[in-house]
Amino acid sequence: MSAPVKEQGLVFSVQRFCMHDGPGIRTVVFFKGCSLRCAWCQNPEGLLARPELAVYAERCIGCGDCVARCPSDALSIQGGAVQVDWAACTHCGDCVEACETRALTTTGERVTAPALAERCLRDAPYYEESGGGVTLSGGEPVLHPPFLERFLRELRSSASGPVHVLLETAGQYPWSMLEPLVPLVDAVYFDWKPSLPGDRERLLGVRRYLAPETLRRLLLAAGLEDLLVKVRIPLVPGLTDSPAHLEAAASQLSALGVPEVQILSYHGLWEAKLRRLDTTMQPLQMAGRLTWETVQRVFQQHGVTATPADSQSAQEVLT
Ligand code: SF4
Ligand code: SF4
Repeated sequence: MSAPVKEQGLVFSVQRFCMHDGPGIRTVVFFKGCSLRCAWCQNPEGLLARPELAVYAERCIGCGDCVARCPSDALSIQGGAVQVDWAACTHCGDCVEACETRALTTTGERVTAPALAERCLRDAPYYEESGGGVTLSGGEPVLHPPFLERFLRELRSSASGPVHVLLETAGQYPWSMLEPLVPLVDAVYFDWKPSLPGDRERLLGVRRYLAPETLRRLLLAAGLEDLLVKVRIPLVPGLTDSPAHLEAAASQLSALGVPEVQILSYHGLWEAKLRRLDTTMQPLQMAGRLTWETVQRVFQQHGVTATPADSQSAQEVLT
């Protein structure tokens, strides 16, 4: 008998042998469901906390087998390829079974904690050899209690020794959701979203930004738990890189006692995913670029050191 849905986690990808999401060789688990709706979200398939239909029209051969399988009349063949009426689609997944070319797929897999841990632990020898481990990403991993706590306990008590765990989070939830996880992770990459009170709804999809309080509590707990916390900031041209956004981020982080931030540069690869999904997100109109000199000066004025998160960030933010 399978575990009740409330005891399962929902993931949209488990990627092995990753080299850019923390130290060493890592397995990155992407959780589905997020409490923010950032206009530049790199993983739009991770936003909804439910399995959803995804369409790869380039694989469609126009056979029409899926059309009759849809109980909601949401599918048609137009110009030799499948079309989805997203307003009618309930994401039931019935059509996926009918499609032999995998033009229709389900994004989001329900997993139990022991099964996911077992999948990750197959690569334990690589973690040990390289100083790697498991990275929790998303979506927002913290929205999955008590599944996450159980999964992390499985990784901690592995027969091959505790696995290094890195949590990527945006902090948009009450502190009480993160607190029980703190002793179970080794590092946190905290994504700080530059925003101003007047543009939070447009940029982040929320009126109240909870991350400052979550980060404040996390930094206090990190001192007690010997936990590494890195604050990272995505600079999105034309959206979050104005002098006012930088100034606000620098001053808020300085007030929280954050000594250093890592700057993540923007890339637009995610925009290609939009045509596959049931989403109202739009590609961004990019405008302008900052120099590193400007970014570093603004943060330095508040006593915060800004560095590139990786070599790509260093190149792309520089003009
Ligand atoms: S997932 Fe959507 S398109 Fe596919 S069968 Fe269900 S309702 Fe129809
Ligand atoms: S079953 Fe698959 S290949 Fe055939 S029309 Fe539907 S989406 Fe296209």
